[in-house]
Amino acid sequence: MKTTKKTPYYYQAVNFEKLVNAYEPPLEFMDGAWKWSRAQIEDNQLKRLKETLKKGAEIPFYQRLWAKHDFTPEDIQSLEDMHKIPLYTIDDIRESIQLEPPFGDYQKYHFDDGTHEPLRFYTSGGTTGAPRPTIYSAWDREVGAILSARTFYLHGIRPGDAVMNSWAYSTHNAAWIMDHGLWQWLGCTPITTGTGNVTPTEKQVEFLQTFGVSSILATSDYLVHIGNTAKKMGIDPKEDLHIKTLSGFGAKEPVQDVFGCPVYDSYAFHEVQYVAAECEAEEGLHIFEDAFIIEVVDFETGEPLPPGYRGNIVVTALYKTGTQQIRYNIQDISASYEMKLCSCGSWHKKIDYFKGRSDNMIKLRGINVWPEALGDIVSKSEKTNGEYFCLLERLESNGQAARDEMTILVEPKFVSSDRSALQTELEGQLKQKIGVKINVNIVEPDSLRELTGHGVRAKLKRFEDRR
Ligand SMILES: [Zn+2]
Repeated sequence: MKTTKKTPYYYQAVNFEKLVNAYEPPLEFMDGAWKWSRAQIEDNQLKRLKETLKKGAEIPFYQRLWAKHDFTPEDIQSLEDMHKIPLYTIDDIRESIQLEPPFGDYQKYHFDDGTHEPLRFYTSGGTTGAPRPTIYSAWDREVGAILSARTFYLHGIRPGDAVMNSWAYSTHNAAWIMDHGLWQWLGCTPITTGTGNVTPTEKQVEFLQTFGVSSILATSDYLVHIGNTAKKMGIDPKEDLHIKTLSGFGAKEPVQDVFGCPVYDSYAFHEVQYVAAECEAEEGLHIFEDAFIIEVVDFETGEPLPPGYRGNIVVTALYKTGTQQIRYNIQDISASYEMKLCSCGSWHKKIDYFKGRSDNMIKLRGINVWPEALGDIVSKSEKTNGEYFCLLERLESNGQAARDEMTILVEPKFVSSDRSALQTELEGQLKQKIGVKINVNIVEPDSLRELTGHGVRAKLKRFEDRR
């Protein structure tokens, strides 16, 4: 245990002058790195990648991984060499935790480093499997908060706004880094309601109305729920509330329908915080390329894919001083856009909206099927309310041998819906679009909340393997 003769001062842990020059806060960013040319972006990426590899080389996890693949940081001489860096997935993180429980050997800092480095600890939501712990340095928190503030600025949130944060203030990072960004890097006042099980949704609606809140941060599903709750209370979200813009996470249209204001999407995950955000052009998500290198790779081979092809997102964070993420195959599904100057004036590369998790991807009679894609299809029907849950089971039918069957449970928009007609209609659409039979089961409205964790979980659960 290290000892110290002085209280460790947070304000001395980060050189803030250096920080804001390296990672510009929103207003400076819009006239700065946001307008960089491709050459400026890529020169900076290569420089930061080399520094990141040096930091990785000091962490046992990367020492093992790289030795196994005969990789050394000197192998990287240009960005074209990226593919030489070994990929890793959640399975490698799990193995690391088993090897050195409970933190794994991928952390740079441990709690006793708090004597000289202010630390934060968060875990993933554990959408799939056990939670992954991450220990963050003060610098990593500050950059993450700047990235979240940039995202909110791009989404029309401005200094002086009061913003209700309806994410869970819990062991999960999301709510905290948003709060930090709003308060310390954007001049906004966070209204810290948290999710519906901390502050009941009716109470949240009252906050919006009473205090003239101008925006809400929440998953798209929960935003819709807040809007619908307001309606049930006799409050028109479009007329009676003064929401000017919304920064959601997921499908935008249902939120726009309820609130009638602009709605924007973004992409983030707990270890690296905000990665990409939508701009006013509303055509894909711009990566913050001063802080990340993002690749999209083939599901099976791990080879980088050209623009337009769906694959797994691979993340290299360039800004971190604590735990590193260097070619982390996060198994979130997306695709790169063609490189071109966006109408918003930025050259920062774009990726497609989040399309689901590839570790939930099921091969059904030879066809790749993932729950979120099925959800997209059923949610497009006017007769559904957008809630769904997928089950994979091994079933016997008509005396035939047991086989895997995917069933999607769907909530109708109205209790009075003709359920068997809706079932037939949706089964037809799914068969046509996916190319394989998916069973549809129409359930009661509001009955899937327990399964999806609506209002409780950060990312809703949409799938269960019951085989
Ligand atoms: Zn743009």
